[in-house]
Amino acid sequence: MLLRRDGQQRLVEGRVLVEARDGGVLLESRDGVYWVIPPEQMEERKTLGVSSTFDPLSHRELEEKLLESLPAGFATHTTKRYVIAYDTSRSYAIWCGSLFERLYSAFTNYWSGRRVELHEPEVPLVAIIFADRRTYIRHATEELGSPPGNVVGYYNLLTNRVTMFDLTGAERFSGTGRHRGNRAAIQRILSQPGAAKNVATIVHEATHQVAYNCGLQTRFADIPLWVSEGLATYFETPDVQSNKGWRRLGGVNQDRLRTFLQYLPQRDSDSLPSLLRNDERFRDQRQAVDAYAEAWALNYFLLRQKADLYTEYLRMLKEKPQLVQDAPETRLEEFQSVFGQDLARLDEEFIRYLLRVR
Ligand SMILES: [Zn+2]
Repeated sequence: MLLRRDGQQRLVEGRVLVEARDGGVLLESRDGVYWVIPPEQMEERKTLGVSSTFDPLSHRELEEKLLESLPAGFATHTTKRYVIAYDTSRSYAIWCGSLFERLYSAFTNYWSGRRVELHEPEVPLVAIIFADRRTYIRHATEELGSPPGNVVGYYNLLTNRVTMFDLTGAERFSGTGRHRGNRAAIQRILSQPGAAKNVATIVHEATHQVAYNCGLQTRFADIPLWVSEGLATYFETPDVQSNKGWRRLGGVNQDRLRTFLQYLPQRDSDSLPSLLRNDERFRDQRQAVDAYAEAWALNYFLLRQKADLYTEYLRMLKEKPQLVQDAPETRLEEFQSVFGQDLARLDEEFIRYLLRVR
């Protein structure tokens, strides 16, 4: 497809996922990036090849494409499922690659054990690692349109990439500004209590990426945030002490539990319905921290106490069409159709269970 954007003509090859009534399309290019193309940007549309099958880029092709688009100084490291572009030490890229692969295996094993069918990612998963916070923030601000704040990494639904910076750089252990940390040094730094939260953020973002690329969730489908964020917080608890960077899956997220327990005294009877109805609490800065904590708590409860029902619910979400927004009542009804009509009773059971969690 030939399109004109920001005064420039570009050729984008890929598959059309959604055709809007106004003639616009949602297109996935061969590198896994989504393009929302309004009709006025479309200059020419051609069907290439004999079939309409998707022809994703290989690891090699994706590496080349990334290096072309990134500033000079970047290199790539590939693993079975990832292409990691970095301009920090190679050992840090390798450390991240192995962290992501372990997360990938643990995540997919977890779901196959619960009879949720997942598939391998169609396109290699991309992570971009900047050497330091400063260049990361500059890049993120350009990509997102606003600064990323204190967030040390993010997953972008459009680009399908996780972007972050070398967390060990912040510790200045090398003293020279160049990070030449070997594996042991990286491990030592990221095992410090102060680093755990940052590592959790990276795992959290990588979890989103895996969930959207293995068929558990669909990008641009209306997945409630209590589900996508709740699952990401369920899997984010890394065990940096284990010398593997990450080992346990779905343990108690002490940080989120503490926040949830602090929120309990002011929690009213509409808390659960409000979480299920729409994403407002997550989007409101004053309520977001509590909403994330409640989403973790709810997922922890459902995954442990209502596993079969939750599996059924997730299977239903897998079928959601792209670019269609559900009404608040629809979200509630769909939840109740699986977990039962009596939300008050479920809420009681939920809180009773959470108060026993240690
Ligand atoms: Zn998230």
